[in-house]
Amino acid sequence: MLTAAAAARTILTRLHEVMASRSHAQAKLNTVVQTIATSLDSEVCSVYLLREGMLELFATEGLAQEAVHVTRMAIGEGLVGTIAEQCGTLNLAEAASHPDFQYRPETGEDKFHSFAGVPIVRRERAVGVLCVQHVEPRRYEEVEIEALQTVAMVVSELIANAELVDEDEARSLAALSTDPERLTGLPLVKGLASGIAVFHQPRITIEHVVAEDTDAERQRVYSAFDRMREQIDKMASQAEFGAGGEHEEVLATYRMFAYDEGWSRRINEAIDSGLTAEAAIERVQQRTRMRMRQIDDPLLADRMHDLEDLANRLLRIVSGQLGTAASQGLRSDAILIARNLGPAELLEYDKRRLKGVILEEGSLTAHVVIVARAMGIPVLGRVRGLRGAVREGDHLLLDGDQGSATVRPAPAMVEAFEARFAKSRERQAGYAAMRDVEPFTRDGSRVTVMINAGLRDDLPLLGLTGADGIGLFRTEFQFLVSATLPARERQTRLYRDVLDSAGDRPVVFRTVDIGGDKVLPYLRHNDGEVEENPAMGWRALRVALDREGLMKSQARSLLEAAAGRTLNVMFPMVSEVWEFDAARAVFEAQLGWLRKQKKRLPDAIRYGVMLEVPALAEMLDQLAPKVSFLSIGTNDLTQFLFAADRSNPKLAERYDWLSPAILRFIKRVLAGTTGFPIDVTVCGEMGGRRLEALALIGLGIRRLSITPAAVGPIKELVRRIDVAEIGAAMNGWLAQPPPNMRAALTEWAIAHAIEID
Ligand code: PEP
Ligand code: MG
Repeated sequence: MLTAAAAARTILTRLHEVMASRSHAQAKLNTVVQTIATSLDSEVCSVYLLREGMLELFATEGLAQEAVHVTRMAIGEGLVGTIAEQCGTLNLAEAASHPDFQYRPETGEDKFHSFAGVPIVRRERAVGVLCVQHVEPRRYEEVEIEALQTVAMVVSELIANAELVDEDEARSLAALSTDPERLTGLPLVKGLASGIAVFHQPRITIEHVVAEDTDAERQRVYSAFDRMREQIDKMASQAEFGAGGEHEEVLATYRMFAYDEGWSRRINEAIDSGLTAEAAIERVQQRTRMRMRQIDDPLLADRMHDLEDLANRLLRIVSGQLGTAASQGLRSDAILIARNLGPAELLEYDKRRLKGVILEEGSLTAHVVIVARAMGIPVLGRVRGLRGAVREGDHLLLDGDQGSATVRPAPAMVEAFEARFAKSRERQAGYAAMRDVEPFTRDGSRVTVMINAGLRDDLPLLGLTGADGIGLFRTEFQFLVSATLPARERQTRLYRDVLDSAGDRPVVFRTVDIGGDKVLPYLRHNDGEVEENPAMGWRALRVALDREGLMKSQARSLLEAAAGRTLNVMFPMVSEVWEFDAARAVFEAQLGWLRKQKKRLPDAIRYGVMLEVPALAEMLDQLAPKVSFLSIGTNDLTQFLFAADRSNPKLAERYDWLSPAILRFIKRVLAGTTGFPIDVTVCGEMGGRRLEALALIGLGIRRLSITPAAVGPIKELVRRIDVAEIGAAMNGWLAQPPPNMRAALTEWAIAHAIEID
């Protein structure tokens, strides 16, 4: 029996000559259908292509020639329309018995019983249909269907070269012909967005399908496999895969596929049939996709995504198209689709063009999410099956408030969404009107509301929100967006610009907090050691104290930038008091040097620490006399208190910021600082959420540093609060925790006419 490879090879060899010939597109198509009909011993072979929204018979061998360019079907109409709509194959012994069958008398097809058709696909969309028919009622053999599918790839190349179909039209038609789908996930950054799906790792468009030299193609695939395996092994050894929150499970699956002999063998067989390396990879992938579609198993579907990832990686290597969507000129209404992203990867995108992000993974306090929040871009995370449901170019409505996204929405859905969008903009405008309003509680307590920042682009937000200052300037963001360690002059320039734009308002600079999920490719462990738990590893102040050059250069930059002003400097991840002493000593030494050089010095230096490692809370009596301020970093504090990695999507919804454990802890920290003249701020993401902020104010917190978008809503909240009332309620709940603190607080808020988010 003929193998699939041999059958396809015979046809491809013949088609290769047709493609290389100098005849025009229609003549080529005519020869293509004749060649396929002869090779498959088929009485009919026809090609339908999309034109003006309809599938038009473009060429046929066996049907009436008068029907060419006359017979037309809508997407979804008849067998041909069904194949295009579903982008699937049909193989029927008796065509007329199929419920979608439609008889077209002008074609003279009534004598043919059996029918097989496959879609002609371009950029993941059906742009036409290739079909064969026989008088004798029989189902086609698997090898024949496989050969047809391979040939459909060649026809796709032919029609692309001859521009026989309009791909944009195909895209919009495909969108129309596919039902809307609602995906749900975890709202990571609130907000609404309407835009077009762009894959962070774009799918490769295959330009050449038929190989000139099979040996050379085989060689290309061998070396691409070698490179891919190297990359996967490297990822495993660096443990920095994705945003640091990726799991070993995924990596293990990647490795399993990368080394799977069956996969590489099937690709080689496809090359044997006469395909190029790219077309062979895609061909095997198509076949796997089709098989998987018949198996309804979510676990297998997940594995299928892993294989898709890997096949795409292999395609990118083999075709040399290595960049992400960021390097390819982003469209102006993009909604980015990815499994996960690192903060540096997100920062490569132009934030004016990026309207939203949807991730298959992600968690509330992962740094990529913090960066997105700072950029004001809504993010939906934890969307299962995302990359299977969405295709490049699909219209998407992203609802970061309710945690859902609609793919290919119907016009009525778009209308309803636009109405909500307008309302939400109105609300935003209302919050913007709060800019000049001072946040006093009903009973007269002034709450300080500052912003978290880290990018030069954030600076105008201070003025726009009317915040009291920058309570956390994450200096590592400058390091994250640089390809190399930023020179001291560049650091100084940024810090000076920050101080200039803040004017009289205070700015708290946090020294670099790298490590964990903030990986700098140019700053690695000397010994190449891999960390099992980077979040609890060599990061933040630990790195800075070990790499003194880094800390010294930053200290000098900050001191010089703050000449003649007050410098507030804060150290992250302080775990023991001596670390604060050591960090401060680095600054003092630099200050001494500047003094000797007779340089202008800051008028005052205020030192502070982030309280995010629980151990430090036990040492407040020792620490408090030494510092001017404390800032509670609830993002890290929560992960350490609960021993729950903040980047691990599996734990994203497991622990609540409103748990009595965290609230009691914060209360104890406040009590531990009583009597010392120090400011205590909360600067984690928690403080930017209304219900959480209400609880914090109830605990006695009067200073919040939050994401800029939350300033309006939090100021508005503050003005509705009576400190004495919420303080009493919190005291009661902390002494005797209710079964669900969130529910209790929500009920309380509603009873006190306080809207929550
Ligand atoms: C925190 O840990 O709460 C914090 C504000 O710092 P970061 O999120 O940058 O670690
Ligand atoms: Mg932190």
